[in-house]
Amino acid sequence: MDMSFQFDNSYARLPEGFYARQRPEPVGAPHLVAYNGALARELGVSEEPGSDAAAVFGGNSVPEGADPLAQLYSGHQFGTYNPQLGDGRAVLLGEVVGGDGQRRDIQLKGSGRTPFSRMGDGRAWLGPVLREYLVSEAMHALGIPTTRALAAVETGETVLREAPLPGAVLTRVAKSHLRVGSFQVFAARGQIENLAMLTDYAIARHYPGADGPLGLLRAVRDAQAELVVAWMAVGFIHGVMNTDNCAISGETIDYGPCAFMDEFSSGRVFSSIDRTGRYAYGNQPGIVVWNMAQLATALIQQCEDVQAAADEATEIVHAMPELLRAAWLRRFAGKIGIAEVQDGDEALITDLLTRMAGNQADFTNTFRALAQGGARDQFVNPGDFDDWEFRWRQRIAEEEAPEARMLAANPAFIPRNHRIEQMIAAAVEGDYAPFERLLGVLARPYENQPDAADLAASPLEGEVVAATFC
Ligand code: AMP
Ligand code: MG
Ligand code: MG
Repeated sequence: MDMSFQFDNSYARLPEGFYARQRPEPVGAPHLVAYNGALARELGVSEEPGSDAAAVFGGNSVPEGADPLAQLYSGHQFGTYNPQLGDGRAVLLGEVVGGDGQRRDIQLKGSGRTPFSRMGDGRAWLGPVLREYLVSEAMHALGIPTTRALAAVETGETVLREAPLPGAVLTRVAKSHLRVGSFQVFAARGQIENLAMLTDYAIARHYPGADGPLGLLRAVRDAQAELVVAWMAVGFIHGVMNTDNCAISGETIDYGPCAFMDEFSSGRVFSSIDRTGRYAYGNQPGIVVWNMAQLATALIQQCEDVQAAADEATEIVHAMPELLRAAWLRRFAGKIGIAEVQDGDEALITDLLTRMAGNQADFTNTFRALAQGGARDQFVNPGDFDDWEFRWRQRIAEEEAPEARMLAANPAFIPRNHRIEQMIAAAVEGDYAPFERLLGVLARPYENQPDAADLAASPLEGEVVAATFC
């Protein structure tokens, strides 16, 4: 059986100025290395890969009903506006509507050059493709909104990075690939008709109840606040929170130099290109507010009374820090077993985090151990934990079933950097066993899996990965 999709391509029906029609560039010897049958089923696609799966997901064969294109967008990269980015190494094949009624994009990433490639080669190498596949699927299993991975193909071609590396293509699935930068590009060019059309499109597709541009702003703000707090709660550092990597849908998008931290530190940065720590763990809530301010600036350009819209948009954005704070408090209270936040809880949480930071405590394992015992072993000076534990036990004595709440809020398994690096090194040698094993374990992150204790452990001294690369 061949791969078949029930495409319905709403984005391709928008005017030409929104994209460039672009077919994927064929590759030498495509070979399917991963296929997400469970996701395929949700999309109404065959659970087993078809005989032409490698050709389709490698970009050599465009499936019937696809209308491939590269999307236009711009964005602020590390705070500096870049007037034109766009899909430089991706093509949207089209959209499918799943059995759940959800419309989703099917995109090939690493599929060759496009009119937006600038100096790039349009390609990806196997490491980042497997990394995104694994981390995005882990994120989904953690219950955090994210793009998904449908397939990965080795191209049989070499990609030149620091060294010649095996090329690969990822098939990414998303509620859409609309970004803050999708709006910025039209606002910056003064293409107000396109801006208004995109606003209507985004509202219809993602927030059908939203009232006009400011209603859209409010809805995206709310979704992004929840998203970033969900990241904070699992120790995730996105790494490149540029406005072109900030999705209107509220999904995590663009897994580049992202990482889950081992030892807790608010200032933690992994990305090798983030030299000033702009996107450090603890800066993420501030950055997402900044990103929403850029969205606001773009959206208001279409309003009849721009000044009045600016005033209202300012209010919407200025309310975001408090939304983030409240969501953060709710999440972290849950992580220590508290259902309803009371006075004093915030101080209790921040005190724990301060003690963790001072004791090289592993973020994931410390929280997981609160319900299961052994948290003090995470502390260089266990006495620092004991003092906190006494006050915490008094507080949760008032709570009903705090253990169950903690086990549901604190994963046992996250995709740890050193395991990802080891997995990539093996895959480059043709050994996909570590990839398969990680994928299986990370699909059930909140379950104790005694035979995978090695994947829950923090890295040994020689295993620590200090930096990640795009
Ligand atoms: P990112 O940092 O992943 O958000 O990418 C920023 C921009 O660079 C986007 O427009 C990408 O499409 C583009 N880009 C990244 N890598 C490549 C590549 N290898 N070839 C062409 N364009 C690329
Ligand atoms: Mg990007
Ligand atoms: Mg990227």
